[in-house]
Amino acid sequence: MIDVVAVVGNPRPGGRTTRVAQAVAARVAALGSGEVETIELADHAARMFDPSDPALGEVTTRVAGADVAVLASPTYKASFTGLLKAFLDRYTGDGLAGVVAVPVMLGGSPAHSLAPDTQLRPVLVELGAVVPTRSVYVVDTEMDRLEETLDRWWSGAEAVLRGCSVSLPPPMKILVTGGAGFVGSHTVVELLEAGHEVTILDDFSNSERSVVDRIGRITGKRPAVVEGDIRNPSALDSAVAGGYDAVFHFAARKSVAESVEEPLLYYQVNVTGTVNLLDAMSRHGVRTIVFSSSCTVYGDPQELPVTEDHPFGPAANPYGRTKQMMEHALMDLAAADPSWRIASLRYFNPVGAHPSGLIGEDPRGVPDNLMPYVTRVAAGRLPELRIFGNDYPTPDGTGVRDYVHVVDLARGHLAALDYVVGSSGYHAWNLGTGQGSSVLELVETFQRVTGRTVPYRFAPRRPGDVAATWADPSKAERELGWKAKHDLADMCRDAWRWESSR
Ligand code: UDP
Repeated sequence: MIDVVAVVGNPRPGGRTTRVAQAVAARVAALGSGEVETIELADHAARMFDPSDPALGEVTTRVAGADVAVLASPTYKASFTGLLKAFLDRYTGDGLAGVVAVPVMLGGSPAHSLAPDTQLRPVLVELGAVVPTRSVYVVDTEMDRLEETLDRWWSGAEAVLRGCSVSLPPPMKILVTGGAGFVGSHTVVELLEAGHEVTILDDFSNSERSVVDRIGRITGKRPAVVEGDIRNPSALDSAVAGGYDAVFHFAARKSVAESVEEPLLYYQVNVTGTVNLLDAMSRHGVRTIVFSSSCTVYGDPQELPVTEDHPFGPAANPYGRTKQMMEHALMDLAAADPSWRIASLRYFNPVGAHPSGLIGEDPRGVPDNLMPYVTRVAAGRLPELRIFGNDYPTPDGTGVRDYVHVVDLARGHLAALDYVVGSSGYHAWNLGTGQGSSVLELVETFQRVTGRTVPYRFAPRRPGDVAATWADPSKAERELGWKAKHDLADMCRDAWRWESSR
């Protein structure tokens, strides 16, 4: 017998969220001969299981008497993760054997999917909670496909719910090349927080060793580190020999200007280094890779927003060419051997920093990219910003880009990993917000949220720059359940916190 209590946050009484929760709870209860009780909370965002709330007395009594709690809430209301964490903080240890988390996504796109919830996972790991590894997302306004969704979820969840004990999938052992770099370090944080075991392979040519300590301070866990250069096949071979489940490959050179001056360096590190890595992975039977690609592969976009089907354009510089070559190599590899599982993530413009202020972008020398240049001008480390071009065919004449917060981007990698481990072949996803912002908009937002002045002057266009590009990120939302959550103001605030804390 399994008694189930369904706690439903912020419903319209008897509305869709309640019906979804009851449908899930009924399935759990049917494992035994238990009863389902439903508690509807009028406004979870306000209550958040606040102990001083008198209405909680009833909830507590009923949850304590149940074997399994089903916690459901619409995802668009406040933070589902925050709600779940508060719930688990309060109720685990009360004899509750299981909690089924049901973030209910009502209306809108994507149409109905069962996606790994990468946001929930770190919270669950931290709390040692008992929750199905794949949460139910119900995205059907008419509810006509609810049963079908539940059937798919149930096929994975039933076995673990029997006996009221659900465990998380085993943590993976992951090698992260370039894990001390900007996007790499933020991804390592997310991987560690999700319970994975991480080894960083880095030559520290464009990053600091102290990043590893800082990752440790954020996560309470220290990743293993192997110092090595991906151009060296024997160093790579021994690094990859550690029995990894997957490789995240960030190690690469990324300066457009430097690539024009030193093209061979770019072909050696980005192309030869990647081929060495794939070769070593192949020898050691590691066939899952998440690769850092870039929207630069599209060249000057012919249509906006840019979808993954947009053809690769002529590359404007050797850096862009190396990214295209590596994507082609990965596609060829997947075609030749279908046992490879490859995620190629096409980043738009990663900016921002970890909200702790402990890690962020730290280019050596004078930055090429806009945000680190802006933060250094704001800090007085550089005299003024040059805005390259104010005569583009854009609303204010300055270049338009899709800036994406690095923490969102990092989470996209975990979502991609979850996807590829359950599939095979080559997959590419755009990671961006879908919003274009001009250079002037970024500078104005930065000044507004930080209260700092960023002196600037207009300068001629920078050779090789496109006027405007922004992503259509809907494929990542549909297939990965990933969507950028931070806006430009968050990106500026976090980039400044990082700059000003150093
Ligand atoms: N940019 C600028 N001044 C700078 C650096 C960049 O005006 O010092 C502009 C650049 O022309 C582009 C945008 O900022 O329109 C983003 O450039 P970034 O180098 O950050 O990224 P990209 O899109 O070139 O990869």
